[in-house]
Amino acid sequence: MPLNTQGRPTRMAENLSTGGYADTFSGSRGLDQSEPLIFERGRTDNTGVDLPEPKGIKTRLGGLDRTAAIGLPGLAEPEAMRHYVRLSRKNYAIDLGLYPLGSCTMKHNPRLNEKMARLPGLADIHPMQPQQTVEGAIELMGELAHWLMTLTNTPCVALSPKAGAHGELCGMMAIRAALDARGETKRRRVLVPESAHGTNPATAVQCGFTTDEIPADATGRVDLEALKAKLGDDVAGIMLTNPNTCGLFERDIKEIADLIHESGGYFYCDGANFNAIVGRVRPGDLGIDAMHINLHKTFSTPHGGGGPGSGPTVFSEALAPYAPVPRVEQTSEGWRLIEQEADADGEPFGRMTAFHGQMGMFSRALTYMLSHGSDGLKQASEDAVLNANYILARLKHVMTPAFDGTCMHEALFDDRFLKDTGVTTLDFAKAMIDEGYHPMTMYFPLVVHGAMLIEPTETESKSGLDRFCDVLEALAEAAKAGEADRFRSAPVHAPTKRLDETLAARNPVLRWTPPVATAAE
Ligand SMILES: *Cc1c(COP(=O)(O)O)cnc(C)c1O
Repeated sequence: MPLNTQGRPTRMAENLSTGGYADTFSGSRGLDQSEPLIFERGRTDNTGVDLPEPKGIKTRLGGLDRTAAIGLPGLAEPEAMRHYVRLSRKNYAIDLGLYPLGSCTMKHNPRLNEKMARLPGLADIHPMQPQQTVEGAIELMGELAHWLMTLTNTPCVALSPKAGAHGELCGMMAIRAALDARGETKRRRVLVPESAHGTNPATAVQCGFTTDEIPADATGRVDLEALKAKLGDDVAGIMLTNPNTCGLFERDIKEIADLIHESGGYFYCDGANFNAIVGRVRPGDLGIDAMHINLHKTFSTPHGGGGPGSGPTVFSEALAPYAPVPRVEQTSEGWRLIEQEADADGEPFGRMTAFHGQMGMFSRALTYMLSHGSDGLKQASEDAVLNANYILARLKHVMTPAFDGTCMHEALFDDRFLKDTGVTTLDFAKAMIDEGYHPMTMYFPLVVHGAMLIEPTETESKSGLDRFCDVLEALAEAAKAGEADRFRSAPVHAPTKRLDETLAARNPVLRWTPPVATAAE
Protein backbone atom coordinates (compact mmCIF):
# COMPACT_ATOMS: atom_id res chain seq x y z
CA MET A 1 0.00 0.00 0.00
CA PRO A 2 1.54 3.41 -0.95
CA LEU A 3 2.02 5.58 2.10
CA ASN A 4 2.70 9.27 2.30
CA THR A 5 5.56 10.68 4.35
CA GLN A 6 3.37 10.55 7.44
CA GLY A 7 2.84 6.83 7.01
CA ARG A 8 -0.81 7.28 6.01
CA PRO A 9 -2.38 5.48 3.03
CA THR A 10 -2.56 7.84 0.06
CA ARG A 11 -5.95 6.69 -1.24
CA MET A 12 -9.11 5.62 0.51
CA ALA A 13 -9.68 2.65 -1.83
CA GLU A 14 -6.32 1.33 -0.77
CA ASN A 15 -7.25 1.80 2.85
CA LEU A 16 -10.26 -0.38 2.26
CA SER A 17 -8.40 -3.06 0.35
CA THR A 18 -6.19 -3.63 3.37
CA GLY A 19 -9.36 -4.41 5.28
CA GLY A 20 -8.80 -2.99 8.70
CA TYR A 21 -7.30 0.46 8.43
CA ALA A 22 -10.75 1.82 7.75
CA ASP A 23 -14.01 -0.10 7.83
CA THR A 24 -15.99 2.76 6.24
CA PHE A 25 -15.42 4.71 3.02
CA SER A 26 -14.73 7.92 4.95
CA GLY A 27 -12.50 6.40 7.59
CA SER A 28 -14.91 7.81 10.19
CA ARG A 29 -16.84 5.52 12.48
CA GLY A 30 -20.10 7.28 13.16
CA LEU A 31 -19.50 10.11 15.59
CA ASP A 32 -15.82 9.19 15.75
CA GLN A 33 -14.70 11.35 12.82
CA SER A 34 -11.47 10.60 11.04
CA GLU A 35 -9.29 13.68 10.82
CA PRO A 36 -6.02 14.07 8.94
CA LEU A 37 -3.30 16.57 9.77
CA ILE A 38 -4.24 20.20 9.19
CA PHE A 39 -1.63 20.29 6.39
CA GLU A 40 -3.39 17.40 4.69
CA ARG A 41 -6.81 18.98 5.04
CA GLY A 42 -6.02 22.62 4.21
CA ARG A 43 -4.95 24.11 0.89
CA THR A 44 -2.44 26.89 0.69
CA ASP A 45 -4.64 28.84 -1.75
CA ASN A 46 -7.55 28.84 0.65
CA THR A 47 -8.25 31.16 3.55
CA GLY A 48 -10.78 31.66 6.30
CA VAL A 49 -10.79 35.46 5.85
CA ASP A 50 -11.83 37.47 2.84
CA LEU A 51 -9.72 40.60 2.44
CA PRO A 52 -9.26 42.67 -0.70
CA GLU A 53 -5.77 42.54 -2.17
CA PRO A 54 -3.88 45.49 -0.60
CA LYS A 55 -2.86 48.13 -3.15
CA GLY A 56 -0.01 50.59 -3.23
CA ILE A 57 1.68 49.54 -0.01
CA LYS A 58 5.36 50.34 0.04
CA THR A 59 7.41 47.71 1.80
CA ARG A 60 9.63 49.01 4.58
CA LEU A 61 11.45 45.70 5.09
CA GLY A 62 14.49 46.69 3.05
CA GLY A 63 14.22 43.78 0.65
CA LEU A 64 13.73 41.21 3.43
CA ASP A 65 10.06 40.65 2.66
CA ARG A 66 8.91 37.15 1.75
CA THR A 67 8.56 36.44 -1.94
CA ALA A 68 7.65 32.74 -1.92
CA ALA A 69 4.37 31.40 -0.57
CA ILE A 70 4.38 30.88 3.19
CA GLY A 71 2.96 27.37 2.74
CA LEU A 72 0.61 27.38 5.71
CA PRO A 73 -2.58 25.39 5.32
CA GLY A 74 -5.68 27.49 4.67
CA LEU A 75 -9.10 26.40 5.89
CA ALA A 76 -12.55 27.91 5.87
CA GLU A 77 -13.57 29.05 9.34
CA PRO A 78 -15.91 26.12 10.09
CA GLU A 79 -13.29 23.68 8.77
CA ALA A 80 -10.67 25.09 11.11
CA MET A 81 -13.09 24.84 14.03
CA ARG A 82 -14.09 21.27 13.13
CA HIS A 83 -10.47 20.25 12.77
CA TYR A 84 -9.70 21.10 16.37
CA VAL A 85 -12.99 19.81 17.76
CA ARG A 86 -12.43 16.48 15.99
CA LEU A 87 -8.89 16.27 17.34
CA SER A 88 -10.14 17.07 20.83
CA ARG A 89 -12.53 14.12 20.60
CA LYS A 90 -9.59 11.77 20.20
CA ASN A 91 -8.35 12.80 23.64
CA TYR A 92 -9.04 10.91 26.79
CA ALA A 93 -9.70 13.38 29.58
CA ILE A 94 -10.81 13.51 33.19
CA ASP A 95 -14.05 15.11 31.95
CA LEU A 96 -14.67 11.96 29.89
CA GLY A 97 -13.83 9.12 32.22
CA LEU A 98 -11.84 7.66 35.09
CA TYR A 99 -8.11 8.20 34.77
CA PRO A 100 -6.37 5.34 36.56
CA LEU A 101 -2.75 6.46 36.01
CA GLY A 102 -0.68 5.96 39.14
CA SER A 103 2.27 8.01 40.39
CA CYS A 104 0.48 10.87 38.74
CA THR A 105 -1.85 11.71 41.60
CA MET A 106 -4.97 13.84 41.65
CA LYS A 107 -6.33 14.77 38.27
CA HIS A 108 -9.43 16.78 39.17
CA ASN A 109 -9.11 20.48 38.34
CA PRO A 110 -12.09 22.29 39.90
CA ARG A 111 -13.70 24.92 37.65
CA LEU A 112 -13.69 27.35 40.58
CA ASN A 113 -9.87 27.39 40.41
CA GLU A 114 -10.04 28.48 36.80
CA LYS A 115 -12.51 31.22 37.58
CA MET A 116 -10.32 32.66 40.33
CA ALA A 117 -7.10 32.43 38.30
CA ARG A 118 -8.80 34.43 35.54
CA LEU A 119 -9.77 37.36 37.78
CA PRO A 120 -8.24 40.37 35.98
CA GLY A 121 -6.41 41.49 39.12
CA LEU A 122 -4.52 38.19 39.12
CA ALA A 123 -4.42 37.25 35.45
CA ASP A 124 -3.46 40.60 33.95
CA ILE A 125 -0.52 41.59 36.14
CA HIS A 126 3.08 41.58 34.99
CA PRO A 127 6.22 40.47 36.86
CA MET A 128 7.93 43.78 36.07
CA GLN A 129 5.18 45.83 37.75
CA PRO A 130 6.24 47.84 40.84
CA GLN A 131 5.59 45.82 43.98
CA GLN A 132 3.23 48.46 45.45
CA THR A 133 0.82 47.79 42.58
CA VAL A 134 0.64 44.02 43.14
CA GLU A 135 0.41 43.76 46.91
CA GLY A 136 -2.65 41.53 46.63
CA ALA A 137 -0.80 39.03 44.47
CA ILE A 138 2.15 38.99 46.87
CA GLU A 139 -0.26 38.49 49.76
CA LEU A 140 -1.77 35.53 47.85
CA MET A 141 1.72 34.04 47.60
CA GLY A 142 2.26 34.69 51.31
CA GLU A 143 -1.04 32.97 52.15
CA LEU A 144 -0.17 29.97 49.97
CA ALA A 145 3.27 29.79 51.61
CA HIS A 146 1.56 29.81 55.01
CA TRP A 147 -0.67 26.85 54.04
CA LEU A 148 2.25 24.87 52.63
CA MET A 149 4.43 25.48 55.70
CA THR A 150 1.53 24.66 58.06
CA LEU A 151 0.59 21.43 56.26
CA THR A 152 4.22 20.27 56.27
CA ASN A 153 5.26 21.84 59.61
CA THR A 154 8.31 23.52 58.11
CA PRO A 155 9.56 27.12 58.63
CA CYS A 156 10.40 28.03 55.02
CA VAL A 157 9.20 27.50 51.46
CA ALA A 158 10.59 28.46 48.04
CA LEU A 159 7.60 28.99 45.76
CA SER A 160 9.55 29.54 42.56
CA PRO A 161 10.37 25.99 41.27
CA LYS A 162 8.23 25.22 38.24
CA ALA A 163 7.86 21.43 38.45
CA GLY A 164 8.49 18.57 40.83
CA ALA A 165 11.86 17.85 39.24
CA HIS A 166 12.72 21.56 39.45
CA GLY A 167 11.77 21.49 43.14
CA GLU A 168 14.08 18.51 43.65
CA LEU A 169 16.87 20.52 42.04
CA CYS A 170 16.08 23.41 44.40
CA GLY A 171 16.19 21.12 47.46
CA MET A 172 19.40 19.39 46.46
CA MET A 173 21.09 22.70 45.66
CA ALA A 174 20.23 23.88 49.18
CA ILE A 175 21.71 20.65 50.60
CA ARG A 176 24.84 21.18 48.57
CA ALA A 177 25.09 24.81 49.75
CA ALA A 178 24.65 23.72 53.38
CA LEU A 179 27.36 21.07 53.05
CA ASP A 180 29.72 23.55 51.39
CA ALA A 181 29.05 26.08 54.17
CA ARG A 182 30.07 23.36 56.67
CA GLY A 183 33.22 22.79 54.64
CA GLU A 184 32.10 19.21 53.98
CA THR A 185 33.07 19.03 50.33
CA LYS A 186 33.73 15.27 50.59
CA ARG A 187 30.08 14.44 51.24
CA ARG A 188 28.98 13.68 47.73
CA ARG A 189 27.14 10.31 47.93
CA VAL A 190 23.32 10.38 47.87
CA LEU A 191 21.32 7.30 48.86
CA VAL A 192 18.34 6.54 46.63
CA PRO A 193 15.93 3.61 47.10
CA GLU A 194 15.68 1.34 44.06
CA SER A 195 11.98 2.14 43.62
CA ALA A 196 12.70 5.89 43.29
CA HIS A 197 11.28 8.01 40.48
CA GLY A 198 13.94 8.55 37.81
CA THR A 199 14.09 12.28 38.52
CA ASN A 200 15.66 11.61 41.96
CA PRO A 201 18.99 10.14 40.82
CA ALA A 202 18.99 12.49 37.82
CA THR A 203 18.71 15.50 40.14
CA ALA A 204 21.42 14.25 42.47
CA VAL A 205 23.83 13.76 39.58
CA GLN A 206 22.92 17.18 38.16
CA CYS A 207 24.05 18.70 41.48
CA GLY A 208 27.41 16.93 41.35
CA PHE A 209 26.55 14.02 43.65
CA THR A 210 26.92 10.31 42.96
CA THR A 211 24.03 7.99 43.74
CA ASP A 212 23.98 4.75 45.67
CA GLU A 213 20.97 2.45 45.45
CA ILE A 214 19.27 1.04 48.56
CA PRO A 215 17.38 -2.21 47.94
CA ALA A 216 13.76 -2.72 49.01
CA ASP A 217 12.76 -5.42 51.49
CA ALA A 218 10.09 -8.05 50.86
CA THR A 219 7.35 -5.63 51.91
CA GLY A 220 8.28 -3.09 49.22
CA ARG A 221 9.86 -0.63 51.64
CA VAL A 222 13.42 0.56 52.27
CA ASP A 223 15.56 -2.23 53.73
CA LEU A 224 16.72 -0.64 56.97
CA GLU A 225 19.72 -2.93 57.48
CA ALA A 226 20.93 -2.27 53.93
CA LEU A 227 20.54 1.46 54.57
CA LYS A 228 22.62 1.26 57.78
CA ALA A 229 25.37 -0.53 55.89
CA LYS A 230 25.54 2.32 53.36
CA LEU A 231 25.96 5.17 55.86
CA GLY A 232 29.31 6.91 56.13
CA ASP A 233 31.03 10.27 56.34
CA ASP A 234 30.83 10.72 52.57
CA VAL A 235 27.01 10.57 52.56
CA ALA A 236 25.36 13.88 51.64
CA GLY A 237 21.87 12.58 52.29
CA ILE A 238 18.98 10.43 51.16
CA MET A 239 16.21 11.06 48.62
CA LEU A 240 13.11 9.16 49.68
CA THR A 241 9.50 9.25 48.47
CA ASN A 242 6.75 8.81 51.03
CA PRO A 243 4.31 7.24 50.36
CA ASN A 244 6.78 5.50 48.05
CA THR A 245 6.27 4.71 44.38
CA CYS A 246 4.86 1.28 45.28
CA GLY A 247 2.00 3.16 46.98
CA LEU A 248 3.23 2.15 50.45
CA PHE A 249 3.93 4.24 53.55
CA GLU A 250 7.58 4.00 54.64
CA ARG A 251 6.87 2.96 58.24
CA ASP A 252 10.49 3.39 59.33
CA ILE A 253 10.72 6.94 58.04
CA LYS A 254 11.50 8.51 61.45
CA GLU A 255 14.24 6.01 62.10
CA ILE A 256 15.60 6.62 58.60
CA ALA A 257 15.63 10.38 59.27
CA ASP A 258 17.45 9.88 62.58
CA LEU A 259 20.03 7.57 61.02
CA ILE A 260 20.75 10.04 58.20
CA HIS A 261 21.01 12.99 60.60
CA GLU A 262 23.28 11.09 63.02
CA SER A 263 25.61 10.32 60.15
CA GLY A 264 25.73 14.01 59.17
CA GLY A 265 23.55 13.91 56.05
CA TYR A 266 20.28 15.59 55.05
CA PHE A 267 16.90 14.07 54.29
CA TYR A 268 15.35 15.03 50.96
CA CYS A 269 11.76 13.84 50.72
CA ASP A 270 10.12 13.52 47.30
CA GLY A 271 6.66 14.88 48.06
CA ALA A 272 5.00 13.87 44.78
CA ASN A 273 2.65 11.58 46.70
CA PHE A 274 1.84 14.12 49.42
CA ASN A 275 -1.81 13.99 48.31
CA ALA A 276 -2.10 10.66 50.16
CA ILE A 277 -1.22 12.12 53.55
CA VAL A 278 -2.17 15.83 53.53
CA GLY A 279 -3.88 16.72 56.80
CA ARG A 280 -2.88 13.38 58.37
CA VAL A 281 0.90 13.62 58.50
CA ARG A 282 3.21 16.64 58.61
CA PRO A 283 6.47 15.69 56.90
CA GLY A 284 8.36 18.16 59.12
CA ASP A 285 7.41 15.96 62.10
CA LEU A 286 9.03 13.01 60.36
CA GLY A 287 12.40 14.75 60.17
CA ILE A 288 12.60 15.82 56.54
CA ASP A 289 14.99 18.66 55.58
CA ALA A 290 13.60 19.50 52.15
CA MET A 291 10.58 18.38 50.15
CA HIS A 292 9.00 19.54 46.92
CA ILE A 293 5.25 19.70 46.67
CA ASN A 294 3.82 19.24 43.18
CA LEU A 295 0.87 21.66 43.20
CA HIS A 296 -0.31 19.71 40.13
CA LYS A 297 -0.37 16.46 42.10
CA THR A 298 -1.59 17.52 45.52
CA PHE A 299 -3.45 20.81 45.17
CA SER A 300 -5.54 20.27 42.03
CA THR A 301 -3.69 22.48 39.52
CA PRO A 302 -3.60 21.09 35.96
CA HIS A 303 -0.75 18.79 34.88
CA GLY A 304 -1.04 20.47 31.51
CA GLY A 305 0.87 18.76 28.70
CA GLY A 306 4.37 19.38 29.99
CA GLY A 307 3.60 22.54 31.88
CA PRO A 308 2.86 24.77 33.58
CA GLY A 309 3.64 22.76 36.67
CA SER A 310 4.62 24.17 40.02
CA GLY A 311 6.86 22.53 42.60
CA PRO A 312 7.33 24.69 45.72
CA THR A 313 10.02 23.29 48.02
CA VAL A 314 9.79 23.44 51.81
CA PHE A 315 12.86 23.52 54.04
CA SER A 316 13.69 22.58 57.63
CA GLU A 317 15.36 24.97 60.09
CA ALA A 318 18.74 23.54 59.04
CA LEU A 319 18.33 24.32 55.34
CA ALA A 320 16.15 27.45 55.50
CA PRO A 321 19.14 29.87 55.44
CA TYR A 322 20.19 28.48 52.05
CA ALA A 323 16.73 28.65 50.42
CA PRO A 324 16.74 30.62 47.17
CA VAL A 325 15.26 34.06 46.52
CA PRO A 326 12.70 35.41 45.92
CA ARG A 327 11.05 35.08 49.30
CA VAL A 328 7.71 36.51 50.42
CA GLU A 329 7.78 38.46 53.65
CA GLN A 330 5.21 40.32 55.72
CA THR A 331 6.68 43.55 57.08
CA SER A 332 5.18 46.36 59.13
CA GLU A 333 4.62 48.21 55.85
CA GLY A 334 2.84 45.34 54.14
CA TRP A 335 3.78 42.42 51.94
CA ARG A 336 7.12 42.36 50.17
CA LEU A 337 8.87 40.10 47.70
CA ILE A 338 12.55 39.90 48.60
CA GLU A 339 14.22 39.65 45.23
CA GLN A 340 17.93 40.23 45.88
CA GLU A 341 20.17 37.77 47.71
CA ALA A 342 21.74 40.65 49.68
CA ASP A 343 18.30 41.63 51.08
CA ALA A 344 17.53 38.14 52.39
CA ASP A 345 18.45 36.60 55.73
CA GLY A 346 20.91 33.69 55.61
CA GLU A 347 22.92 32.71 52.56
CA PRO A 348 20.52 32.01 49.68
CA PHE A 349 22.18 29.75 47.12
CA GLY A 350 20.81 31.91 44.31
CA ARG A 351 17.54 31.70 42.41
CA MET A 352 15.65 29.08 40.43
CA THR A 353 13.75 31.29 37.98
CA ALA A 354 13.86 34.78 36.54
CA PHE A 355 10.78 35.91 38.46
CA HIS A 356 8.66 34.44 41.26
CA GLY A 357 7.21 31.22 39.79
CA GLN A 358 3.85 30.13 38.38
CA MET A 359 1.38 32.77 39.55
CA GLY A 360 -1.58 31.12 37.80
CA MET A 361 -0.88 27.88 39.66
CA PHE A 362 -0.53 29.70 42.99
CA SER A 363 -4.03 31.19 42.56
CA ARG A 364 -5.50 27.81 41.65
CA ALA A 365 -3.84 25.94 44.52
CA LEU A 366 -4.87 28.53 47.11
CA THR A 367 -8.43 28.50 45.75
CA TYR A 368 -8.49 24.74 46.24
CA MET A 369 -7.12 25.02 49.77
CA LEU A 370 -9.55 27.75 50.81
CA SER A 371 -12.57 26.04 49.23
CA HIS A 372 -11.78 22.77 51.03
CA GLY A 373 -10.50 24.12 54.32
CA SER A 374 -8.05 22.07 56.36
CA ASP A 375 -10.71 19.48 57.20
CA GLY A 376 -11.60 19.11 53.51
CA LEU A 377 -7.99 18.58 52.49
CA LYS A 378 -7.71 15.83 55.10
CA GLN A 379 -10.88 14.21 53.79
CA ALA A 380 -9.59 14.34 50.20
CA SER A 381 -6.46 12.38 51.12
CA GLU A 382 -8.49 9.91 53.21
CA ASP A 383 -10.88 9.36 50.30
CA ALA A 384 -7.97 8.87 47.88
CA VAL A 385 -6.57 6.14 50.13
CA LEU A 386 -9.99 4.59 50.70
CA ASN A 387 -10.69 4.43 46.95
CA ALA A 388 -7.34 2.79 46.18
CA ASN A 389 -7.90 0.19 48.88
CA TYR A 390 -11.39 -0.49 47.54
CA ILE A 391 -9.88 -1.32 44.15
CA LEU A 392 -7.21 -3.48 45.77
CA ALA A 393 -9.84 -5.39 47.75
CA ARG A 394 -12.19 -5.81 44.79
CA LEU A 395 -9.53 -7.05 42.35
CA LYS A 396 -7.16 -9.09 44.48
CA HIS A 397 -9.00 -12.35 43.77
CA VAL A 398 -8.44 -12.03 39.98
CA MET A 399 -5.28 -9.90 39.72
CA THR A 400 -2.14 -10.27 41.82
CA PRO A 401 -1.30 -7.46 44.28
CA ALA A 402 2.46 -6.84 44.27
CA PHE A 403 2.62 -6.67 48.07
CA ASP A 404 0.56 -7.88 51.01
CA GLY A 405 -1.55 -5.61 53.15
CA THR A 406 -3.31 -2.33 52.53
CA CYS A 407 -1.98 0.39 50.25
CA MET A 408 -1.98 4.17 50.39
CA HIS A 409 -3.38 6.16 47.44
CA GLU A 410 -2.52 3.70 44.67
CA ALA A 411 -3.02 -0.04 44.21
CA LEU A 412 -0.08 -1.91 42.70
CA PHE A 413 -0.50 -5.20 40.85
CA ASP A 414 2.11 -7.32 39.08
CA ASP A 415 1.68 -9.68 36.11
CA ARG A 416 1.69 -13.04 37.93
CA PHE A 417 -2.04 -13.41 37.21
CA LEU A 418 -1.22 -13.35 33.48
CA LYS A 419 1.33 -16.17 33.76
CA ASP A 420 0.90 -18.74 30.94
CA THR A 421 -1.98 -16.78 29.37
CA GLY A 422 0.13 -15.34 26.52
CA VAL A 423 -1.11 -11.88 27.58
CA THR A 424 1.36 -9.23 28.75
CA THR A 425 0.86 -6.11 30.87
CA LEU A 426 0.98 -4.09 27.64
CA ASP A 427 -1.73 -6.25 25.99
CA PHE A 428 -3.90 -5.94 29.08
CA ALA A 429 -3.54 -2.15 29.08
CA LYS A 430 -4.38 -1.94 25.36
CA ALA A 431 -7.56 -3.97 25.92
CA MET A 432 -8.64 -1.37 28.49
CA ILE A 433 -8.66 1.24 25.71
CA ASP A 434 -11.30 -0.75 23.82
CA GLU A 435 -13.37 -0.75 27.02
CA GLY A 436 -13.24 3.07 27.13
CA TYR A 437 -10.66 3.44 29.89
CA HIS A 438 -7.27 5.06 29.84
CA PRO A 439 -4.74 2.40 30.89
CA MET A 440 -3.16 2.48 34.33
CA THR A 441 0.58 3.22 34.70
CA MET A 442 2.43 0.23 33.24
CA TYR A 443 5.87 -1.19 34.03
CA PHE A 444 6.46 1.38 36.80
CA PRO A 445 7.81 1.08 39.44
CA LEU A 446 10.58 -0.92 37.79
CA VAL A 447 11.10 -3.08 40.88
CA VAL A 448 7.80 -4.89 40.25
CA HIS A 449 7.54 -7.28 37.27
CA GLY A 450 4.98 -6.18 34.70
CA ALA A 451 3.72 -3.53 37.14
CA MET A 452 0.20 -2.11 36.87
CA LEU A 453 -0.19 0.91 39.12
CA ILE A 454 -3.75 2.15 39.61
CA GLU A 455 -4.58 5.43 41.29
CA PRO A 456 -8.31 6.18 41.25
CA THR A 457 -7.99 9.43 43.29
CA GLU A 458 -10.43 11.02 45.70
CA THR A 459 -13.05 12.13 43.17
CA GLU A 460 -14.37 8.76 41.95
CA SER A 461 -17.67 7.51 43.34
CA LYS A 462 -18.26 3.96 44.49
CA SER A 463 -20.45 3.22 41.46
CA GLY A 464 -17.73 4.58 39.14
CA LEU A 465 -15.13 2.39 40.84
CA ASP A 466 -17.44 -0.62 40.61
CA ARG A 467 -17.89 -0.17 36.85
CA PHE A 468 -14.12 0.08 36.44
CA CYS A 469 -13.46 -2.99 38.60
CA ASP A 470 -16.15 -4.98 36.73
CA VAL A 471 -14.28 -4.32 33.48
CA LEU A 472 -10.86 -5.24 34.89
CA GLU A 473 -12.32 -8.36 36.46
CA ALA A 474 -13.88 -9.40 33.13
CA LEU A 475 -10.61 -8.76 31.29
CA ALA A 476 -8.58 -10.75 33.81
CA GLU A 477 -11.03 -13.65 33.50
CA ALA A 478 -10.93 -13.47 29.68
CA ALA A 479 -7.13 -13.63 29.77
CA LYS A 480 -7.22 -16.66 32.02
CA ALA A 481 -9.87 -18.29 29.80
CA GLY A 482 -7.41 -18.31 26.89
CA GLU A 483 -8.72 -15.33 24.93
CA ALA A 484 -5.21 -14.07 24.19
CA ASP A 485 -6.14 -12.98 20.65
CA ARG A 486 -8.57 -10.38 21.91
CA PHE A 487 -5.72 -8.81 23.87
CA ARG A 488 -3.05 -9.05 21.20
CA SER A 489 -5.24 -7.32 18.60
CA ALA A 490 -6.34 -4.57 20.99
CA PRO A 491 -7.07 -1.73 20.66
CA VAL A 492 -9.61 -2.31 17.90
CA HIS A 493 -11.84 0.67 18.72
CA ALA A 494 -9.22 3.42 18.68
CA PRO A 495 -8.25 6.01 16.06
CA THR A 496 -4.78 4.48 15.85
CA LYS A 497 -3.78 0.95 16.73
CA ARG A 498 -0.51 -0.10 18.29
CA LEU A 499 2.23 2.29 17.40
CA ASP A 500 5.82 1.38 16.78
CA GLU A 501 6.95 3.29 19.84
CA THR A 502 10.59 2.35 19.42
CA LEU A 503 10.66 3.68 15.87
CA ALA A 504 8.79 6.79 16.97
CA ALA A 505 11.33 7.46 19.71
CA ARG A 506 14.36 6.68 17.56
CA ASN A 507 13.18 8.40 14.42
CA PRO A 508 10.65 11.06 15.38
CA VAL A 509 8.98 12.83 12.45
CA LEU A 510 8.44 16.30 13.83
CA ARG A 511 7.99 18.25 10.63
CA TRP A 512 5.33 17.84 7.98
CA THR A 513 6.55 17.42 4.42
CA PRO A 514 4.24 17.23 1.38
CA PRO A 515 3.09 13.73 0.45
CA VAL A 516 5.27 11.79 -1.94
CA ALA A 517 3.38 11.22 -5.23
CA THR A 518 3.01 7.56 -6.08
CA ALA A 519 3.88 6.18 -9.54
CA ALA A 520 0.21 5.63 -10.43
CA GLU A 521 -0.50 9.33 -9.95
C1 LIG B 1 5.83 13.23 39.18
C2 LIG B 1 6.91 12.84 40.07
C3 LIG B 1 8.11 13.59 40.10
C4 LIG B 1 8.42 14.73 39.16
O1 LIG B 1 7.49 15.76 39.17
P1 LIG B 1 7.27 16.68 37.87
O2 LIG B 1 6.36 17.75 38.31
O3 LIG B 1 6.67 15.77 36.83
O4 LIG B 1 8.61 17.19 37.44
C5 LIG B 1 9.08 13.20 41.00
N1 LIG B 1 8.90 12.14 41.81
C6 LIG B 1 7.77 11.40 41.80
C7 LIG B 1 7.62 10.25 42.75
C8 LIG B 1 6.73 11.72 40.93
O5 LIG B 1 5.61 10.98 40.90
